[in-house]
Amino acid sequence: QCDENSKEADEKGNLDIDGKTSYVSKSDLSLLQKLLHSRLVQSKSDIEVQRKDPTSPLYSVKSFEALHLKPELLKGVYDMGFNAPSKIQETALPTLLADPPTNMIAQSQSGTGKTAAFVLTMLSRVNISLNYPQCLCLAPTYELALQIGEVTKQMSKHMTGLQIMYAVRGERIARGQHLSCHIIIGTPGTTMDWAFKLKAFDMSKIKVFVLDEADVMISLQGHQDQSYRLQRGLSGSCQMLLFSATYDTSVMEFAEKIIPNDPIVIKLRREEESLDNIKQYYIECTSQEEKFEALSNIYGAISIGQSMIFCATRKTAATLAERMTRDGHAVGLLHGELEIEMRADIIKRFRDGKEKVLITTNLSARGIDVEQVTVVVNFDLPLTPDQKPDCETYLHRIGRTGRFGKSGIAINFVDGRRSMDTMKYIEKHFGRAIAKLDASDLDAIE
Ligand code: ADP
Repeated sequence: QCDENSKEADEKGNLDIDGKTSYVSKSDLSLLQKLLHSRLVQSKSDIEVQRKDPTSPLYSVKSFEALHLKPELLKGVYDMGFNAPSKIQETALPTLLADPPTNMIAQSQSGTGKTAAFVLTMLSRVNISLNYPQCLCLAPTYELALQIGEVTKQMSKHMTGLQIMYAVRGERIARGQHLSCHIIIGTPGTTMDWAFKLKAFDMSKIKVFVLDEADVMISLQGHQDQSYRLQRGLSGSCQMLLFSATYDTSVMEFAEKIIPNDPIVIKLRREEESLDNIKQYYIECTSQEEKFEALSNIYGAISIGQSMIFCATRKTAATLAERMTRDGHAVGLLHGELEIEMRADIIKRFRDGKEKVLITTNLSARGIDVEQVTVVVNFDLPLTPDQKPDCETYLHRIGRTGRFGKSGIAINFVDGRRSMDTMKYIEKHFGRAIAKLDASDLDAIE
């Protein structure tokens, strides 16, 4: 049957435990980001809009009042602490809420307010006096569906009588039962069972269809086909919306198939990271033991604000954590074997300043922004699964976007020819010098 749980190894693998390949799936990463984004990610990038008729004016709103929401919905929005629409919401919401309904494909990085935008759309279009499902939102996993449900519940707090159901594994409904809820949030497999096998609701009566996290959706086995099949059950007048954090060719193709009839396409580019304000150093050692000692020297000699240390294997990370704890440092240890909530918790503690050092293996911290970090240590330089220098990951770890134009320090450990070659390769790739640092004389970095 439909495996809702298939957290496919969909990301490129990386070394985690003693050279064993381990994975962080896109869905895990996405959930982690959801759990961590307690506030809006601001962006200075410009919105890019593509639509069929470029001469028709595109409205943009600066306030939630301007959207003429139902009073109980506006109250819910304000209760969530939203004062003004986010950048993507400014442009998307007037179109999302306009009549006749327009289809839309929207892409912006995690944390920019997409979920809030489509939840608001569903809630403003739903009619509570009609007792059948009118809005359907598909999410790639059980956990992501629940996250959307939480937002929907919060925002609809003052909409008395609104009923939401989750079409996810474990939620059972009786044969012959006709659902009287207003909104269904589900994963594709269970939603298909409810709609087609159990005929618990009528797809053709859905007024708003949302497909969230399209990039994660297509990374999971079978989800793409199930999404197509569900989409085909919708009526022509249904408003169809697709959201994604990234928008490469595969997502684009999927989006264009799922969202027909010349949708408006809205994109908010991610701000580029750069090494402009980063001082980069390397320390040459001859053995692993020497690396441990050099690191210990650094932390003993200079006062470091918050720092992250990246290791290639879990074993190294664990040993390092143990040693640094022994030296009296408050460290957090993050690796891919931890449950997702546990990981989010460790990152939160670090962000709140409860720990000053976060030691992590390659992949477990991928894609997670910890903005306040001033020092990044590559205890091991990043390599791709085929053991080539991984410049992209290097930039993610070290680089900062313009908006946090703060300066930072990167310290790279080199032990032996291969890692020296990797370092030189990275240096050449970015065209930014990495200066040699003598671990016994650290005045240079202060
Ligand atoms: P995305 O779906 O793009 O990841 P979310 O809708 O989950 O983004 O929003 C990210 C965070 O910002 C959430 O904590 C959400 O409550 C908050 N948020 C969303 N819209 C606004 C807004 N207009 N004003 C303030 N905070 C907002």
